[in-house]
Amino acid sequence: MANVVVVGAQWGDEGKGKIVDWLSERADVIARFQGGHNAGHTLVIDGTVFKLSLLPSGIVRPGKLSVIGNGVVLDPWHLVSEIEKLRGQGVEITPETLMIAENAPLILPIHGELDRARESANSIAKIGTTGRGIGPAYEDKVGRRSIRVADLADDATLELRVDRALVHHDALRKGLGLEPVDRDRLLADLRAIAPAVLDYAAPVWKVLNEARRGGKRILFEGAQGALLDIDFGTYPYVTSSNVIAGQAATGTGIGPGSIDFVLGIVKAYTTRVGEGPFPAELTDEIGQRLGERGHEFGTVTGRKRRCGWFDAVLVRQTCATSGVNGIALTKLDVLDGFETLKICTGYELDGEMLDHLPTAADRQARCTPVYEEMPGWSESTEGARSWADLPANAIKYVRRVEELIGCPVALLSTSPERDDTILVTDPFAD
Ligand code: GDP
Repeated sequence: MANVVVVGAQWGDEGKGKIVDWLSERADVIARFQGGHNAGHTLVIDGTVFKLSLLPSGIVRPGKLSVIGNGVVLDPWHLVSEIEKLRGQGVEITPETLMIAENAPLILPIHGELDRARESANSIAKIGTTGRGIGPAYEDKVGRRSIRVADLADDATLELRVDRALVHHDALRKGLGLEPVDRDRLLADLRAIAPAVLDYAAPVWKVLNEARRGGKRILFEGAQGALLDIDFGTYPYVTSSNVIAGQAATGTGIGPGSIDFVLGIVKAYTTRVGEGPFPAELTDEIGQRLGERGHEFGTVTGRKRRCGWFDAVLVRQTCATSGVNGIALTKLDVLDGFETLKICTGYELDGEMLDHLPTAADRQARCTPVYEEMPGWSESTEGARSWADLPANAIKYVRRVEELIGCPVALLSTSPERDDTILVTDPFAD
């Protein structure tokens, strides 16, 4: 019996898709515990490409139970369209293979409108949201005015919940120059979509606890990265939920003691999308080269990701806040051919050395990276499947990363292909 949490240990885009897919084949239950329909995994199974942004990766594998936990904010219209698209590709989705937490809050069309109105009207620095209403839906959750999955089952409750939400939203919309919400239309839309969502509604906490007691293997699938965590990320340039491993417990309703292994996904260098501090950023041709070799462009927007050398300070920190037991180091092959590699081992700030990223925004912005240099390798590591396939300097690099972050490598990924992986420790091993 072993339950594994997968978290991104940088700013997202670490290559979680491949690793989650690799692990989901071995799991019985795959659960999402935070975020919304912004995860953006592409899975290739037996030559078929599946695109998922809300449903857990296990959904494409027969015989697995996929779970959407209460920590997720759920857009019911998106849910239905993602299910339909997958069904069109021959994936069987039933209430036996997909369960959605009854206490998950909904994303409504008014949340997306609010998101977009704020991002376009705001003269203050943009956060760079995806405009899908995820942030405003989390605000309503904490503001105790969410409509939750279970509310769809009772019309009187639904009306009460909608009225409660609209008191807040209409006032906000007035300030932003938007029309008041069309209450009747919203209610009609919710009534129309309700049966399709309620089919999958379940007391997920109970199902997961029973699965755990029954010796099932549960994979908790994180989205984004720990540096985007609402508490421990580079606030305010963060996502609107907790991303770190503890959220797997609160976002599904299992106890923290039920988590046996936390796997941090770590890219062999650093990238970040959009605004916010990034001490080891390279704006020179090396950064350019990392971006081109690593195909660091947004999958939806095509936007260039900011790139830099591996920042051991940040990963040491996220390994601590998520209690990472082992990392999956991805995209090592992108470093092939560099004569010299650098690793950021600390920051200098006002003549002082720091071994962590300070919390205050102005201090974060003034941190200068302190680098350690290592010799690179000219050989290709692409597709390596054992340590013996790796050049000596690549092994030295991996060992130094382990030392600096204080956490061992459990998996090493050397290409986008699922089998191009070196397994050191099986996270699911008893
Ligand atoms: P996520 O946002 O963390 O889920 O990241 P993705 O799963 O979207 O991965 C980002 C990209 O990196 C995808 O195009 C993957 O195919 C690719 N990728 C993953 N692992 C490796 C690797 O080890 N080497 C290379 N070259 N590409 C990889």
